[in-house]
Amino acid sequence: MMHVVDIIVKKRDGEALTAQEIDFLIQGYVRGEVPDYQMAAWAMAVMLKGMTPQETIDLTLSMARSGEILDLHDVAPLVVDKHSTGGVGDKTTLIVAPLVAACGVPVGKMSGRGLGFSGGTLDKLESIPGYTVSLSIEAFKKQLREVGLVVAGQTANLAPADGLLYALRDVTGTVPSLPLIASSIMSKKIAAGADAIVLDVKTGRGAFMKTLDEARALAQIMVEIGQGVGRRVSAVLSDMNQPLGSAVGNALEVAEALEVLRGRGPADLRAHCLAIAGQMLILGGKAGEAGQAHALLTSALEDGRALDAFMRWIAAQGGDVSVLGDPPVLPRAALVETVLSPRSGVIAAIDAMEVGLAAVELGAGRFKKGDPVDYAVGIVLGPKVGEAVRVGDPLFTIHANDSTRLQVARKRLLAAYRWSDGPVTPPPLVYETI
Ligand code: URA
Repeated sequence: MMHVVDIIVKKRDGEALTAQEIDFLIQGYVRGEVPDYQMAAWAMAVMLKGMTPQETIDLTLSMARSGEILDLHDVAPLVVDKHSTGGVGDKTTLIVAPLVAACGVPVGKMSGRGLGFSGGTLDKLESIPGYTVSLSIEAFKKQLREVGLVVAGQTANLAPADGLLYALRDVTGTVPSLPLIASSIMSKKIAAGADAIVLDVKTGRGAFMKTLDEARALAQIMVEIGQGVGRRVSAVLSDMNQPLGSAVGNALEVAEALEVLRGRGPADLRAHCLAIAGQMLILGGKAGEAGQAHALLTSALEDGRALDAFMRWIAAQGGDVSVLGDPPVLPRAALVETVLSPRSGVIAAIDAMEVGLAAVELGAGRFKKGDPVDYAVGIVLGPKVGEAVRVGDPLFTIHANDSTRLQVARKRLLAAYRWSDGPVTPPPLVYETI
């Protein structure tokens, strides 16, 4: 007879768990037999003691098998997906999913909510009134067939173990663990049935993997897991030292994604999205190499096909597209304050984790499981790393619904900046592709 407490103790003492032990725990949790407090204790033990590659693979497969595993081949011959390991200002999915779909590659994707200081695509999408993230498997497939694009959350049927564990990790300090991230992402990817998966593995201050070596290790295990179950997988190691683009916060990020889809928006965000979407076209068999992919993608952006695909997608999932005009009318915060630079110089760093925490502080993320999210609040950055400012120039704008929270966020944000007297080279967007 297995006992959950013995499994927790074994992991606490740094021993490797068997596939049977892991499966007992995961399936018990999904059936409601293992309580949150035991699961949280186990997750903390994994966080502190780690897992072997074999345990990580076993955990992923248990989580994927906690629900149904979709076979989408009756819907489309080849479906692509992408997933980010989590970052600040990372609205990439909102742009690349319609962009890739507009180039004729079906995108079926299961996304997540905010996690710690990092934002979540589902929360961003829910800032569009009416958008529903919970789709039945039939609805997921129908939309993929008819619209060529669907982005949903875990359902009761798809990787339910991840849905439960993800919400628990968010509020128990157990997010930045290589095996927990790898299994969370890959279980969803396997369950959602995509044939080809592009992993956007973030590294830096605003990522869960702070160093390139850690990010590479995470990328390698995820690629191994995906290939082990017969999927095409590539991983792009990308920078997350400063936030991606300018907007951080749910509705603000939707607005910024629309800017890029309308051919405007921050250059770093656009370039990053073109890189990820390019990999998706290559894995999806639409482009032979990056140059060809780039040409297909820029034409879909410039002639408005990507924006059209975005609107069709949002409408298909119940979102009110009448609010997505130019400019969009999304939830707006009552207090909007632009903070000025306290000194002159070249911006040398904007600590993405601190910016993410400031956004959570404003209400864009959660402190406890199930906390409501304030879609309107967040931050819009002005100049980014490498750009020069003079004292008194606008540095960033805070969108808040509470003056105390605004003050806390302002202090935190100002402390996230570093200035230099000499020139500063901004970090590269992409370090390497695996
Ligand atoms: N994204 C996920 O889906 N899961 C994680 O654990 C981290 C990022």
